[in-house]
Amino acid sequence: MEAVLKLLELEPVKEYIRRIGGEYGLDVMRIMAEAGEPVTDEYIAGFLGVKVTVVRTVLNRFHFWGIVDYHKERDPDTGWYTYTWFIRTSRLKEAILEEISEKEKEIRQKMDELENYMFFECPSGHERVPFEVAMEMNFTCPVCGAQLRPVDTAGELEELRKRLTEIAKIKALVRAM
Ligand SMILES: [Zn+2]
Repeated sequence: MEAVLKLLELEPVKEYIRRIGGEYGLDVMRIMAEAGEPVTDEYIAGFLGVKVTVVRTVLNRFHFWGIVDYHKERDPDTGWYTYTWFIRTSRLKEAILEEISEKEKEIRQKMDELENYMFFECPSGHERVPFEVAMEMNFTCPVCGAQLRPVDTAGELEELRKRLTEIAKIKALVRAM
């Protein structure tokens, strides 16, 4: 579970867990990882100081994506079922790699666009359009009337390149876990 805790420190992983698990997603995941063994929703709720229903919602969301699962046990005396939840580490890693690859694809597409087209933008950020469209607009922002100016693609490309390097590092890290 230490591997999972390490994963949870990475920004893109945090983002992903928050997105699929909601506000308490990261906390729930962290408590489960720290417990190091299957835990009940009551246990997690107690730690977090929230209602069990809140935790259940998060767990169900995670379960939908396959990154957690549960054992179901029936108490022979009461007949009640107890669910203990655990992280499916390998599936979590897979999901994170998929997520990161998706982001990588987006960045490459964006770089491709920036490399192949010339863009113009409004200084106040109202519009950002390719050259052909800017020409149709007479290089005038339709919102505020300001003159459109060429976008500094070199700076943006550099930024995107840095992000790709970062992503490559994270991928290697996740794979090595
Ligand atoms: Zn404008």
